[in-house]
Formats: sequence, structure tokens, C-alpha cells
Amino acid sequence: MKVLCVGRNYVEHIEELGNEKPDSIVFFLKPDTALSHNNDDFYLPDFSEDVHYECEVVVKIDKVGKTIPVEYAHEYYSEIALGLDMTLRDVQQKAKEKGLPWTLAKGFDYSAPISNFLPLSEFGKIQDLDFSLQKNGAIVQQANTKQMIHTVDEIIAYISQYITLKKGDLIFTGTPKGVGKVNIGDKFVGYIGEKEMFSINVK
Ligand code: MG
Repeated sequence: MKVLCVGRNYVEHIEELGNEKPDSIVFFLKPDTALSHNNDDFYLPDFSEDVHYECEVVVKIDKVGKTIPVEYAHEYYSEIALGLDMTLRDVQQKAKEKGLPWTLAKGFDYSAPISNFLPLSEFGKIQDLDFSLQKNGAIVQQANTKQMIHTVDEIIAYISQYITLKKGDLIFTGTPKGVGKVNIGDKFVGYIGEKEMFSINVK
């Protein structure tokens, strides 16, 4: 399985990092070794001075698909989770300046902690989900998926033109504003609506 991640999908997050709004959907891959489950502790890596959290709604692909039309994309997922796209912002910044890949900045071991997957039907519509992230008891990220620039269905249609989607593949759908630094001792609790999805301690 593969982990696909969309970047720059919320306007105010693009602005907070001083990035340009892309012409087309920006996406990248994390290896499956990036995943971490069961509220496992996140160990701050020693090869970065500036690890950032990015809270994102994650969609699990249910069946294989290639060049999926946007109007049928909703048939390709039925479960969602909440995840953190952990990012080595200093490593990423250097890569951006040199036009180099983001693989290390985004794909290091355990860079993708995620909650359990639950049926989307328990929450409502994919483009009308409130979600939020608390850091040490204070809300740092709060958004609704209707604020996405590109909808989940548009993302699936776009990516599947180039990369075949398979059952079990995951798509991180982008982070809203409020990203920030991860420090040892932090506790991150993520919610979709009122439901607590994960609780992760940083060691
Ligand atoms: Mg992200």
C-alpha cells in the first residue's frame, strides 16, 4: 500500500507558510514505514531542529481504480481517519530552495501517525467535516473540510490519472492553518466533530 499526501489544499495554510497557490494539485508519497497506529508515542527525530505537526483528514481507498472520473470517485472510499503529517520543516525548506525532493522531510519513519478508520457515514459528508487538533489542551488547528481548495473526489480523480489507486491506499488530504513546532512532552489530541480520534504523546 502507499500513502499519498496532498499539499497546499487550504488557502490560509498556504499563506502562513508563504507559499504560492499551486496551479494543479500538489501531492507526494510517504512509505508505509511512515505509518504509526494505536496512539503510539511519537519520538522526536534527532535529525531535525524544526519538526512540525500538520493535522489532516485521511481517506482510505476501498478498491482498485485508474483514471477514476470525479463523479464516481465517491465510490472508491467509505472510511476516514485523522492523521498527522509530521514534517521536518528545516529539511523541507532546504529541499525547496534547491528544488530537491521532500522524501526525507516527509517520509521518515513514523512521520504519519493516524487514528483508527471509521465509516464516513458516522460523521456525515466528506466535504462538511469539522476537525481539530489540540496541543497540550489548547486548540491549534480547527477547520471544516469544505475549506479544501480541491475536494477529495477531485484529488482521487487527479492522482488516479497518473498513479493507480489500490485497496488500502491512504490519502492525507491537506492541512489547514495553525501548523507549528513539535516539542518533547507535547500531547496532541485530534477530533473529527466531537469524536476523539487520537491522543499522541511526544517523547
Ligand atoms: Mg501535509
